[in-house]
Amino acid sequence: MSGKTVVVALGGNAILQHNQTGTAAEQIANVRRASRQIAEIAAAGYSVAVTHGNGPQVGDILLRNELAKDTLPAMPLDVCGAESQGMIGYLLQQSMQEALRAAGLDRPVATVLTQTLVDDGDPAFGNPEKPIGPFYTALQARRLREEKGWRMVQIPGRGYRRVVPSPRPINLVEGEVILRLFSAGVIVIAAGGGGVPVVVGPGGTLRGVEAVVDKDRTAALLARIVGADDLLILTDVEYVALNYGQPDRQDIHGMTVHEAREHLTAGHFPPGSMGPKVEAAIRFLEAGGERATIASLDSAAAALAGRSGTRIRR
Ligand code: ADP
Ligand code: MG
Repeated sequence: MSGKTVVVALGGNAILQHNQTGTAAEQIANVRRASRQIAEIAAAGYSVAVTHGNGPQVGDILLRNELAKDTLPAMPLDVCGAESQGMIGYLLQQSMQEALRAAGLDRPVATVLTQTLVDDGDPAFGNPEKPIGPFYTALQARRLREEKGWRMVQIPGRGYRRVVPSPRPINLVEGEVILRLFSAGVIVIAAGGGGVPVVVGPGGTLRGVEAVVDKDRTAALLARIVGADDLLILTDVEYVALNYGQPDRQDIHGMTVHEAREHLTAGHFPPGSMGPKVEAAIRFLEAGGERATIASLDSAAAALAGRSGTRIRR
């Protein structure tokens, strides 16, 4: 055993691709690909904690609520987030148990349904900008604004969508439980979808809020909580690039925190996609992490060994 520790952050695509319809069978097949990579990483001697996105799944749950709202009460966003953690956690648990067994490893796997503490004074609450859930017509959007007070934005050519705040994660309510399981050798799946955002109310009680915490930001926090050496962020591109999407695109194999910051400032990593991943890598390294790697799902084990993906160092 190398005794090394890693937090693996699975992108939304690892579980459901944009061109798929979202059947259980499709999600199981995708999760199996991810699980084989994670088993390979565990076989290399790593202690592993896993976190994952939930955008497509929570989108489907919200749409299901919308379609059924005349028959059954619609659930608030925090409850939908918890539902998605349970669903994805179940699929991952089962397929990881199978992949570990196939790799000849006897390692327990458990999902911890996680609440992420956020500050109700976070400036994001005054400026909701994360689009979630189904697209609506202009008429529906006006009604939702009036009846529910939702903030709606127009997405050119596709209609209207609800936007919610994306506050920064401060701590994981279940952080201590996660650390205990991780220290005992359990492969922990935690803080799916960034965790359910909660604020501290009067008397110290927790209350779920209508917001979404960025999963890459939460991954950096989770990595700090378990004291990980490595943060491995898996998405659908092989490398982080400069001038992405342009003819002069240049893949980055390695960069320092300083260089990463410069490229961020120069606008190479946009806010809704690559930006939060690079920022999470920077935050993790500045908090004492050894290595941060951004890579594609199918080369996860190779990337962790330094043979693929973009490596960011202090
Ligand atoms: P995930 O679901 O894994 O979080 P995102 O869609 O949020 O995935 O982010 C990954 C996407 O970021 C890639 O598919 C790519 O289209 C986009 N992207 C934007 N800028 C860059 C860049 N500079 N280098 C690589 N990919 C980039
Ligand atoms: Mg994303």
